[in-house]
Amino acid sequence: MESTSMPLFHFQEVLEYLKSSISNEVLQEYLYWLYQAPKYTTYRVNSKIVSAIDAISQLQNILEDAAGKDSISLPDIFIHPSLPDLIVLGPVKHSAEHSINSEKNVIVDSACGAAVLRGAHVYAPGVLGMPAGVKKGDEINILADLQAGCRKGLKKDYKGKIVFIGKGIALMTRGDLFMQNGTVTGVAIEVKSTTSGCARLPANNPSANSLSSLLLLQNLPSVVCGWVLNPQPGQIVLDACAAPGNKTTHLSSLMDNEGVIVALDKTSSKVNSLKQNCEKMGATNVRAFTFDSTKAVIDSNDSESPKNPLIDPPPYAPNTFDKVLLDAPCSALGQRPQLANWTSVSQLKSYPALQRNLFKSAVSLVKEGGQLLYCTCTITLEENEEMVAWALQSFPNLSLEEVTPRIGGCGGKGWPVRGLTPEHQAKVLRFGPPVKEITDGCAPCDMDTIGFFLALFQKGT
Ligand code: SAM
Repeated sequence: MESTSMPLFHFQEVLEYLKSSISNEVLQEYLYWLYQAPKYTTYRVNSKIVSAIDAISQLQNILEDAAGKDSISLPDIFIHPSLPDLIVLGPVKHSAEHSINSEKNVIVDSACGAAVLRGAHVYAPGVLGMPAGVKKGDEINILADLQAGCRKGLKKDYKGKIVFIGKGIALMTRGDLFMQNGTVTGVAIEVKSTTSGCARLPANNPSANSLSSLLLLQNLPSVVCGWVLNPQPGQIVLDACAAPGNKTTHLSSLMDNEGVIVALDKTSSKVNSLKQNCEKMGATNVRAFTFDSTKAVIDSNDSESPKNPLIDPPPYAPNTFDKVLLDAPCSALGQRPQLANWTSVSQLKSYPALQRNLFKSAVSLVKEGGQLLYCTCTITLEENEEMVAWALQSFPNLSLEEVTPRIGGCGGKGWPVRGLTPEHQAKVLRFGPPVKEITDGCAPCDMDTIGFFLALFQKGT
């Protein structure tokens, strides 16, 4: 059993690479923080269908019913003070002891383990190994495989690196999981307690399931993005890397479904999920296309007349959109908790070039006087502050804007960033390990988030 407090990096050279731009001290602080799950669970309310107050009372009823059965304490539930459509659930008071007092262990993959630490139950596809003697209703320890070494269907003890994450009740047996034809879906283990103490809704509960179109589990910084871009009803908006559409549906809600959002993603299966999510959340002003956003600007030699985003598919003429969101593909090193990480240095190095190409299109497509929001869920300087420095140098008509609401820390926390002044660093938002200077005035849930970065630009003439 591992007693680690940092993500297991399978490519150790990634740590050396990160140290080339971040001091070892800051990196160690980051790694410790990344390994922990955020203690707060955040839901965005679908304001088109339900008010935040009604959503809270529905959540409370479900949690009270479940708590009554299991005699556990209830988490605090409140509306975020600056984000009116965000409901925050605090941690539950009792978390699983870091000890194993049952002989029965289920091994799950590290992604499933991370989801459990954030409040999910164990779904069948995440289960790797379960002993033959486990019956439905048995209490079972949940262990995450850090090495991706556990063979699916393993019956015996797994000898690789594992970490204890919590306890639950088996809803499926080994036979249900591994001896069926076809893919098995559904909850395999109903989680009862975890080492993170994150709140969770009961498994297979019809009332909880009926909340799925009212509430969307969404990280706090992602909801900040919508409010910072703040699209208005009637505007023409581009979401350049949109799937699965969690931010798209928020933009649509802020626009009251008036105006249009062109949502592009280069992967067609993801665009299908985006369309389904828009339908579920009632986002009717979204036009979604499978399209490479690096090619979304009309070729100036193209003799066709400029395309109208209200009726035509991409590409579009320069200066078409009032607002552009570029939620860029990134190394995702801000995801928490990170139990294990398989990113290689060459993957890490590949992102900035793609991000710059997407950024060039986005700058061209936004109107003069319009705004462009760039964001990532990673921690590297290259994909964040250095992108801002590059953008300001490459596009003299761009200015960096103050963001509202200002939640989170400033950029380049203690790191000198070439091309960025302290004023620039104070304008961008970086969500990272809490530091005294930047947490003053912030609610605890504002800093205990995933790692995230955002910068808002305005295009001048
Ligand atoms: N904004 C999304 C949300 O909140 O649900 C998440 C977007 S995710 C960070 C980045 C997305 O960019 C991925 O879905 C990926 O398929 C897409 N992507 C990557 N390269 C792209 C490109 N050249 N053009 C358009 N989309 C791209």
